[in-house]
Amino acid sequence: MPDPLHRSLSPFLSQQLGEERAQAAVALQKLLQSAGLGESLWPRWIDARPGLLSTIWIDGDAEPPLGLTMPALCVRYGELLKDGLAALKLLLGAKEVGFCTSKPALQAELERLCARTTILVRTSLMAFPSQPELDARPQRGRAWVVPVERVVQVGALILKRPPPQLCSVVGAVALPQALDLTDDDPSVWTPRELLRRCGGSPVAAWVALVGGALTGTPWSADAKLPRDVSHLLILPADHELLTRRRLLQDPHARIANACLSCDLCSAFCPESIQPHLSMQALGRQQPLPPAGLPGCSGCGACSVACPAGLLPASLLAGPRGSWQATMDASDEPPPLPIGRLRIPTELLLSRLGLLAYQH
Ligand code: SF4
Ligand code: SF4
Repeated sequence: MPDPLHRSLSPFLSQQLGEERAQAAVALQKLLQSAGLGESLWPRWIDARPGLLSTIWIDGDAEPPLGLTMPALCVRYGELLKDGLAALKLLLGAKEVGFCTSKPALQAELERLCARTTILVRTSLMAFPSQPELDARPQRGRAWVVPVERVVQVGALILKRPPPQLCSVVGAVALPQALDLTDDDPSVWTPRELLRRCGGSPVAAWVALVGGALTGTPWSADAKLPRDVSHLLILPADHELLTRRRLLQDPHARIANACLSCDLCSAFCPESIQPHLSMQALGRQQPLPPAGLPGCSGCGACSVACPAGLLPASLLAGPRGSWQATMDASDEPPPLPIGRLRIPTELLLSRLGLLAYQH
């Protein structure tokens, strides 16, 4: 009986790369599955559109506005990153692989790491949302931006090592850092415990957001954290971002009263999916427009842009989750982001009230 994983690789890996590499891809997918790391590593269009993929990028600016995981991964697991990128390049037939970042310190670290290799290190714009596929032309529509954690996982699995797990603990924290939780017992991971390992908080009353500032979820101090936690943002309990979230506990009334229909959220949306229409539908308690949200990347630009302090990215996060799964099943690569407006990083942090927590 044919291996269903093998079928999922055709026609690209089976027909273009040959049986041997297709088998290697199957083995890699199985390793990922057995490690509980998901069924599909790359988007469907890479298999379905032979030869379309030109470049695989790791986005050095992809973390939520504050984060330490990426630099820590590069320093501690640089060799795994190189091995992971090399494996993906071989398996997927990409012409180039590389890193994009706007952070000079990270760029210097990556250039040192990638010296004497064919891995590219490119400078991207210091702006939000980060869009390496846009900055690193001319790979229009043919680039795959892969999360750095996934590449490290691939590198680790190839070398038969357990995939490392790092978690950024940042914000109102005495010693912000990326904790290495690899050999740890997940049952003890709570915000209070991870914060204790970072020297505690200088503020008496704090709230933890799992996942970062723009779309993160408030988490009870002693509640068990998800197994794949990678970002914990600690904020003073009276921080403006938390106040904005509390105001949205009844989003329909708040949107109906506060949404100015100004269209700014849509002007900043890199996917051009018009989140203002979804917000207006939410405010009226009507069904969301079906055309837009499947393309939502969850970047959070709309939340930063909104002058009324609404958080469209957070409010649309729930519906987006169920649509996201269908995106990767598409045979077509996603359109290149349009990026009409991008926000300078300093302005972004200032707008979110996070300038004081910059590293
Ligand atoms: S979170 Fe979604 S709707 Fe908001 S700007 Fe990003 S892609 Fe557009
Ligand atoms: S930016 Fe805010 S106020 Fe303006 S349309 Fe979007 S949700 Fe409404």
